[in-house]
Amino acid sequence: MLLLELPNEILWTILHFVPPRDSLCLLKTCKSLYQLKQDELFWREFARQYGMIYLHPHQTWWQFYISGDLKKTCPHIHDRFFMETLTKKAMVFWNTLLSFSSSFQQQQQQQQQPSEKEKEKEEKRTSLFYACCQEQGQKLNGGGLCLSPHCQFVGCGDAFFSPEANPGHLREHYHATGHTCVLKLSSLHFCELFCYACNKPVGFWGFPSMEKPIGERYLVRSIVQTLVNTFPKDPYLKNQAIERRRAIERRLVWSQQSHEDSYIIERSWFMAWNEFLFEKTDQIPGVLLNKSLFCSMTTNTLRSDIELGTDFELVGGVVRSYIERVYDIDGPVVSAYELQWKPEYRKICESILFRRHIMQRGPQGIPSDP
Ligand SMILES: [Zn+2]
Ligand SMILES: [Zn+2]
Ligand SMILES: [Zn+2]
Repeated sequence: MLLLELPNEILWTILHFVPPRDSLCLLKTCKSLYQLKQDELFWREFARQYGMIYLHPHQTWWQFYISGDLKKTCPHIHDRFFMETLTKKAMVFWNTLLSFSSSFQQQQQQQQQPSEKEKEKEEKRTSLFYACCQEQGQKLNGGGLCLSPHCQFVGCGDAFFSPEANPGHLREHYHATGHTCVLKLSSLHFCELFCYACNKPVGFWGFPSMEKPIGERYLVRSIVQTLVNTFPKDPYLKNQAIERRRAIERRLVWSQQSHEDSYIIERSWFMAWNEFLFEKTDQIPGVLLNKSLFCSMTTNTLRSDIELGTDFELVGGVVRSYIERVYDIDGPVVSAYELQWKPEYRKICESILFRRHIMQRGPQGIPSDP
Protein backbone atom coordinates (compact mmCIF):
# COMPACT_ATOMS: atom_id res chain seq x y z
CA MET A 1 0.00 0.00 0.00
CA LEU A 2 1.31 3.45 -0.90
CA LEU A 3 1.81 6.04 1.85
CA LEU A 4 -0.34 8.53 -0.07
CA GLU A 5 -3.25 6.14 -0.12
CA LEU A 6 -3.46 6.31 3.62
CA PRO A 7 -6.23 8.54 4.98
CA ASN A 8 -5.07 12.05 5.96
CA GLU A 9 -5.76 11.32 9.62
CA ILE A 10 -3.11 8.60 9.62
CA LEU A 11 -0.59 10.78 7.75
CA TRP A 12 -1.20 13.54 10.29
CA THR A 13 -0.66 11.09 13.15
CA ILE A 14 2.68 10.09 11.61
CA LEU A 15 3.61 13.78 11.16
CA HIS A 16 2.89 14.45 14.84
CA PHE A 17 5.80 12.20 15.73
CA VAL A 18 8.25 13.15 12.95
CA PRO A 19 10.28 16.38 13.26
CA PRO A 20 9.61 18.67 10.23
CA ARG A 21 13.14 18.28 8.79
CA ASP A 22 12.85 14.47 8.87
CA SER A 23 9.47 14.54 7.17
CA LEU A 24 11.06 16.52 4.31
CA CYS A 25 13.45 13.55 3.82
CA LEU A 26 10.44 11.23 3.86
CA LEU A 27 8.66 13.33 1.23
CA LYS A 28 11.75 13.30 -1.00
CA THR A 29 11.65 9.53 -1.24
CA CYS A 30 8.79 9.56 -3.74
CA LYS A 31 7.63 12.02 -6.38
CA SER A 32 3.91 11.81 -5.63
CA LEU A 33 4.60 12.16 -1.93
CA TYR A 34 6.77 15.21 -2.65
CA GLN A 35 3.81 16.83 -4.39
CA LEU A 36 2.06 16.86 -1.02
CA LYS A 37 4.16 19.97 -0.38
CA GLN A 38 1.82 21.90 -2.69
CA ASP A 39 -1.32 20.75 -0.91
CA GLU A 40 -2.05 23.83 1.24
CA LEU A 41 -5.36 22.42 2.45
CA PHE A 42 -3.57 19.37 3.84
CA TRP A 43 -1.06 21.50 5.81
CA ARG A 44 -3.70 23.96 6.95
CA GLU A 45 -5.83 21.15 8.35
CA PHE A 46 -2.75 19.69 10.04
CA ALA A 47 -2.01 23.07 11.71
CA ARG A 48 -5.67 23.23 12.83
CA GLN A 49 -5.00 20.19 14.98
CA TYR A 50 -2.66 22.38 17.01
CA GLY A 51 -5.35 25.04 17.19
CA MET A 52 -3.48 27.25 14.71
CA ILE A 53 -5.66 29.35 12.46
CA TYR A 54 -3.41 32.32 11.67
CA LEU A 55 -0.31 32.70 9.54
CA HIS A 56 2.23 35.33 8.56
CA PRO A 57 0.91 36.85 5.28
CA HIS A 58 4.14 35.96 3.42
CA GLN A 59 4.11 32.34 4.54
CA THR A 60 2.28 29.32 3.18
CA TRP A 61 0.95 26.62 5.54
CA TRP A 62 3.62 24.27 4.24
CA GLN A 63 6.39 26.83 4.96
CA PHE A 64 4.92 27.39 8.40
CA TYR A 65 5.02 23.65 9.08
CA ILE A 66 8.56 23.06 7.74
CA SER A 67 9.95 26.07 9.66
CA GLY A 68 9.28 24.16 12.87
CA ASP A 69 7.26 27.09 14.25
CA LEU A 70 3.99 25.14 14.40
CA LYS A 71 4.64 23.77 17.87
CA LYS A 72 6.19 27.02 19.11
CA THR A 73 3.48 29.48 18.12
CA CYS A 74 0.74 30.50 20.56
CA PRO A 75 -2.58 29.37 19.02
CA HIS A 76 -4.66 31.39 21.47
CA ILE A 77 -4.42 34.70 19.66
CA HIS A 78 -5.99 35.11 16.28
CA ASP A 79 -7.04 38.06 14.18
CA ARG A 80 -10.86 38.02 14.01
CA PHE A 81 -11.24 37.24 17.68
CA PHE A 82 -9.19 40.25 18.81
CA MET A 83 -9.31 42.68 15.95
CA GLU A 84 -13.05 43.28 16.14
CA THR A 85 -12.92 44.47 19.73
CA LEU A 86 -9.52 46.12 19.78
CA THR A 87 -10.69 49.72 19.45
CA LYS A 88 -12.93 49.23 22.51
CA LYS A 89 -10.01 47.62 24.33
CA ALA A 90 -7.88 50.65 23.51
CA MET A 91 -10.08 52.75 25.81
CA VAL A 92 -9.63 50.29 28.70
CA PHE A 93 -5.91 50.28 27.89
CA TRP A 94 -5.52 54.09 28.05
CA ASN A 95 -7.76 54.42 31.11
CA THR A 96 -5.62 51.91 32.98
CA LEU A 97 -2.37 53.49 31.85
CA LEU A 98 -3.56 57.01 32.66
CA SER A 99 -4.70 56.00 36.12
CA PHE A 100 -1.03 55.19 36.82
CA SER A 101 0.28 58.33 35.21
CA SER A 102 -2.00 60.64 37.24
CA SER A 103 -0.67 59.26 40.51
CA PHE A 104 2.83 59.41 39.02
CA GLN A 105 2.44 63.07 38.07
CA GLN A 106 0.92 64.03 41.44
CA GLN A 107 3.93 62.60 43.20
CA GLN A 108 6.29 64.37 40.83
CA GLN A 109 4.60 67.71 41.51
CA GLN A 110 4.81 67.21 45.26
CA GLN A 111 8.50 66.60 45.16
CA GLN A 112 10.24 68.82 42.66
CA GLN A 113 13.52 66.96 42.74
CA PRO A 114 13.07 63.48 44.08
CA SER A 115 16.17 61.56 45.05
CA GLU A 116 17.07 58.35 43.22
CA LYS A 117 15.62 56.27 46.06
CA GLU A 118 12.36 58.21 46.02
CA LYS A 119 12.17 57.88 42.25
CA GLU A 120 12.50 54.14 42.61
CA LYS A 121 9.78 54.08 45.26
CA GLU A 122 7.54 56.16 43.01
CA GLU A 123 8.06 53.84 40.10
CA LYS A 124 7.15 50.86 42.26
CA ARG A 125 4.06 52.55 43.59
CA THR A 126 2.84 53.58 40.15
CA SER A 127 3.40 50.16 38.62
CA LEU A 128 1.48 48.52 41.52
CA PHE A 129 -1.59 50.66 41.33
CA TYR A 130 -4.30 48.17 40.43
CA ALA A 131 -7.76 48.70 41.82
CA CYS A 132 -8.15 44.96 42.59
CA CYS A 133 -5.35 45.16 45.15
CA GLN A 134 -5.32 48.73 46.33
CA GLU A 135 -6.54 47.88 49.82
CA GLN A 136 -4.25 44.95 50.41
CA GLY A 137 -1.31 46.92 48.97
CA GLN A 138 0.16 43.68 47.65
CA LYS A 139 3.51 43.86 45.90
CA LEU A 140 2.62 42.40 42.55
CA ASN A 141 4.01 43.34 39.17
CA GLY A 142 3.15 43.07 35.50
CA GLY A 143 -0.57 43.74 35.76
CA GLY A 144 -2.75 44.57 32.80
CA LEU A 145 -6.01 43.91 31.02
CA CYS A 146 -7.81 40.85 29.73
CA LEU A 147 -7.98 40.76 25.92
CA SER A 148 -11.04 38.54 25.58
CA PRO A 149 -13.79 40.30 23.63
CA HIS A 150 -16.47 41.86 25.84
CA CYS A 151 -14.41 41.33 29.01
CA GLN A 152 -13.39 44.48 30.88
CA PHE A 153 -11.22 42.84 33.52
CA VAL A 154 -8.15 44.76 34.69
CA GLY A 155 -5.94 43.29 37.39
CA CYS A 156 -2.56 42.86 38.96
CA GLY A 157 0.13 40.44 37.83
CA ASP A 158 1.87 37.61 39.70
CA ALA A 159 4.53 37.94 42.35
CA PHE A 160 8.01 38.16 40.82
CA PHE A 161 9.28 34.95 42.43
CA SER A 162 7.36 31.69 41.91
CA PRO A 163 4.52 33.41 40.03
CA GLU A 164 2.33 30.31 39.83
CA ALA A 165 2.38 29.81 43.60
CA ASN A 166 1.64 33.53 44.14
CA PRO A 167 -0.76 34.38 41.35
CA GLY A 168 -2.06 37.89 40.73
CA HIS A 169 -5.69 38.62 39.98
CA LEU A 170 -5.06 38.43 36.21
CA ARG A 171 -3.94 34.80 36.49
CA GLU A 172 -6.82 34.02 38.87
CA HIS A 173 -9.16 35.56 36.29
CA TYR A 174 -7.73 33.16 33.68
CA HIS A 175 -8.34 30.15 35.95
CA ALA A 176 -11.89 31.30 36.66
CA THR A 177 -12.91 32.21 33.09
CA GLY A 178 -10.46 30.52 30.68
CA HIS A 179 -9.57 33.93 29.18
CA THR A 180 -6.04 33.11 28.12
CA CYS A 181 -4.52 36.28 26.64
CA VAL A 182 -3.83 39.51 28.47
CA LEU A 183 -2.07 42.75 27.70
CA LYS A 184 0.50 43.45 30.40
CA LEU A 185 1.45 47.04 31.00
CA SER A 186 4.96 48.08 31.84
CA SER A 187 6.61 51.44 32.30
CA LEU A 188 9.58 50.27 30.23
CA HIS A 189 8.19 48.07 27.47
CA PHE A 190 4.82 49.89 27.33
CA CYS A 191 2.69 46.84 26.72
CA GLU A 192 3.22 43.20 25.88
CA LEU A 193 0.97 40.22 25.32
CA PHE A 194 1.04 37.28 27.67
CA CYS A 195 -0.76 33.96 27.30
CA TYR A 196 -1.64 32.09 30.50
CA ALA A 197 -2.47 28.88 28.62
CA CYS A 198 1.05 28.80 27.10
CA ASN A 199 2.35 30.50 30.27
CA LYS A 200 4.70 32.68 28.16
CA PRO A 201 4.94 36.16 26.71
CA VAL A 202 3.54 36.24 23.17
CA GLY A 203 5.30 37.84 20.19
CA PHE A 204 8.20 39.20 22.18
CA TRP A 205 10.37 37.66 24.91
CA GLY A 206 11.22 40.93 26.61
CA PHE A 207 14.74 40.99 25.21
CA PRO A 208 15.74 41.04 21.57
CA SER A 209 18.32 38.23 21.33
CA MET A 210 15.65 35.50 21.27
CA GLU A 211 13.07 35.79 18.54
CA LYS A 212 9.54 34.46 18.54
CA PRO A 213 8.02 32.75 15.45
CA ILE A 214 7.36 35.25 12.63
CA GLY A 215 3.59 34.65 12.45
CA GLU A 216 3.18 35.26 16.18
CA ARG A 217 5.35 38.40 16.00
CA TYR A 218 3.35 39.68 13.06
CA LEU A 219 -0.01 39.26 14.77
CA VAL A 220 1.17 40.70 18.09
CA ARG A 221 2.63 43.70 16.28
CA SER A 222 -0.71 44.41 14.62
CA ILE A 223 -2.53 44.08 17.97
CA VAL A 224 -0.08 46.34 19.82
CA GLN A 225 0.02 48.91 17.03
CA THR A 226 -3.77 49.09 16.80
CA LEU A 227 -4.03 49.60 20.56
CA VAL A 228 -1.33 52.23 20.95
CA ASN A 229 -2.48 54.21 17.92
CA THR A 230 -6.17 54.33 18.89
CA PHE A 231 -6.13 57.38 21.14
CA PRO A 232 -9.09 58.54 23.28
CA LYS A 233 -11.48 60.87 21.42
CA ASP A 234 -11.61 63.39 24.26
CA PRO A 235 -8.86 65.98 23.47
CA TYR A 236 -7.72 66.26 27.10
CA LEU A 237 -7.41 62.50 27.49
CA LYS A 238 -5.73 62.22 24.10
CA ASN A 239 -3.14 64.74 25.18
CA GLN A 240 -2.57 62.81 28.41
CA ALA A 241 -2.21 59.58 26.45
CA ILE A 242 0.41 61.13 24.13
CA GLU A 243 2.30 62.48 27.17
CA ARG A 244 2.27 59.07 28.78
CA ARG A 245 3.57 57.37 25.65
CA ARG A 246 6.30 59.98 25.29
CA ALA A 247 7.36 59.52 28.95
CA ILE A 248 7.63 55.75 28.51
CA GLU A 249 9.66 56.05 25.30
CA ARG A 250 12.00 58.64 26.76
CA ARG A 251 12.63 56.45 29.77
CA LEU A 252 13.33 53.51 27.47
CA VAL A 253 15.81 55.50 25.35
CA TRP A 254 17.58 56.90 28.43
CA SER A 255 17.80 53.55 30.15
CA GLN A 256 19.50 52.20 27.03
CA GLN A 257 21.98 55.03 26.59
CA SER A 258 24.90 53.22 28.18
CA HIS A 259 24.35 50.19 25.95
CA GLU A 260 26.25 49.90 22.73
CA ASP A 261 24.21 51.09 19.77
CA SER A 262 24.51 48.67 16.95
CA TYR A 263 21.43 48.61 14.72
CA ILE A 264 21.29 50.75 11.60
CA ILE A 265 18.07 52.71 11.11
CA GLU A 266 17.00 55.43 8.73
CA ARG A 267 17.98 58.89 9.99
CA SER A 268 14.91 60.81 8.81
CA TRP A 269 12.67 58.54 10.90
CA PHE A 270 15.07 58.79 13.84
CA MET A 271 14.91 62.61 13.68
CA ALA A 272 11.10 62.61 13.50
CA TRP A 273 11.06 60.35 16.56
CA ASN A 274 13.44 62.71 18.39
CA GLU A 275 11.17 65.65 17.65
CA PHE A 276 8.32 63.73 19.25
CA LEU A 277 10.40 62.65 22.26
CA PHE A 278 11.70 66.17 22.90
CA GLU A 279 8.22 67.73 22.66
CA LYS A 280 8.89 69.68 19.45
CA THR A 281 5.79 68.05 18.02
CA ASP A 282 2.93 65.79 19.11
CA GLN A 283 3.10 64.10 15.72
CA ILE A 284 4.02 60.47 16.31
CA PRO A 285 6.18 59.08 13.47
CA GLY A 286 4.71 56.33 11.29
CA VAL A 287 6.32 53.08 10.16
CA LEU A 288 10.13 53.11 10.03
CA LEU A 289 10.98 52.78 6.32
CA ASN A 290 14.40 51.21 6.53
CA LYS A 291 14.16 50.10 2.89
CA SER A 292 15.83 53.33 1.68
CA LEU A 293 19.14 52.10 3.16
CA PHE A 294 19.14 49.01 0.97
CA CYS A 295 19.95 48.47 -2.69
CA SER A 296 16.69 48.65 -4.59
CA MET A 297 17.43 45.57 -6.71
CA THR A 298 18.33 43.22 -3.90
CA THR A 299 16.36 44.46 -0.93
CA ASN A 300 18.57 42.76 1.64
CA THR A 301 21.94 44.25 0.63
CA LEU A 302 22.79 47.35 2.61
CA ARG A 303 24.03 50.26 0.47
CA SER A 304 27.74 50.95 1.05
CA ASP A 305 27.47 54.68 0.25
CA ILE A 306 25.27 55.63 3.24
CA GLU A 307 26.63 57.93 5.94
CA LEU A 308 26.16 58.02 9.68
CA GLY A 309 24.41 61.22 10.73
CA THR A 310 23.11 61.86 7.19
CA ASP A 311 21.42 58.68 6.04
CA PHE A 312 21.38 56.53 9.13
CA GLU A 313 21.61 56.48 12.93
CA LEU A 314 22.26 53.72 15.43
CA VAL A 315 20.03 52.26 18.15
CA GLY A 316 20.52 49.43 20.65
CA GLY A 317 18.81 46.05 20.56
CA VAL A 318 16.06 46.82 23.08
CA VAL A 319 15.16 50.09 21.33
CA ARG A 320 15.18 48.34 17.96
CA SER A 321 12.74 45.69 19.12
CA TYR A 322 10.56 48.36 20.74
CA ILE A 323 10.40 50.25 17.43
CA GLU A 324 9.55 47.04 15.61
CA ARG A 325 6.74 46.18 18.03
CA VAL A 326 5.17 49.60 18.52
CA TYR A 327 5.98 51.46 15.27
CA ASP A 328 6.73 48.64 12.80
CA ILE A 329 9.72 48.49 10.47
CA ASP A 330 9.34 48.11 6.71
CA GLY A 331 12.56 46.56 5.47
CA PRO A 332 15.40 44.67 7.09
CA VAL A 333 17.53 45.89 10.01
CA VAL A 334 21.27 45.26 9.90
CA SER A 335 23.56 45.14 12.92
CA ALA A 336 26.85 47.05 12.65
CA TYR A 337 28.65 43.91 13.84
CA GLU A 338 27.65 42.11 10.66
CA LEU A 339 29.56 44.69 8.59
CA GLN A 340 32.90 44.40 10.35
CA TRP A 341 34.41 41.79 8.04
CA LYS A 342 33.11 43.17 4.78
CA PRO A 343 35.60 45.53 3.08
CA GLU A 344 32.90 47.43 1.13
CA TYR A 345 31.54 48.75 4.45
CA ARG A 346 34.92 49.91 5.80
CA LYS A 347 33.95 53.61 5.68
CA ILE A 348 30.68 52.95 7.55
CA CYS A 349 32.47 50.92 10.24
CA GLU A 350 35.10 53.61 10.73
CA SER A 351 32.48 56.31 11.21
CA ILE A 352 30.69 54.12 13.78
CA LEU A 353 33.95 53.56 15.69
CA PHE A 354 34.68 57.28 15.56
CA ARG A 355 31.21 58.09 16.92
CA ARG A 356 31.69 55.61 19.80
CA HIS A 357 35.05 57.15 20.58
CA ILE A 358 33.48 60.61 20.85
CA MET A 359 30.60 59.32 22.97
CA GLN A 360 33.07 57.79 25.41
CA ARG A 361 35.31 60.87 25.64
CA GLY A 362 32.61 63.54 25.48
CA PRO A 363 32.58 66.53 23.08
CA GLN A 364 36.17 67.49 23.99
CA GLY A 365 37.20 64.27 22.23
CA ILE A 366 36.48 65.83 18.82
CA PRO A 367 39.78 66.83 17.22
CA SER A 368 39.87 70.43 15.94
CA ASP A 369 40.35 71.15 12.23
CA PRO A 370 44.01 71.50 11.29
ZN1 LIG B 1 -1.12 30.65 24.10
ZN1 LIG C 1 -5.03 42.35 42.30
ZN1 LIG D 1 -11.44 38.25 30.82
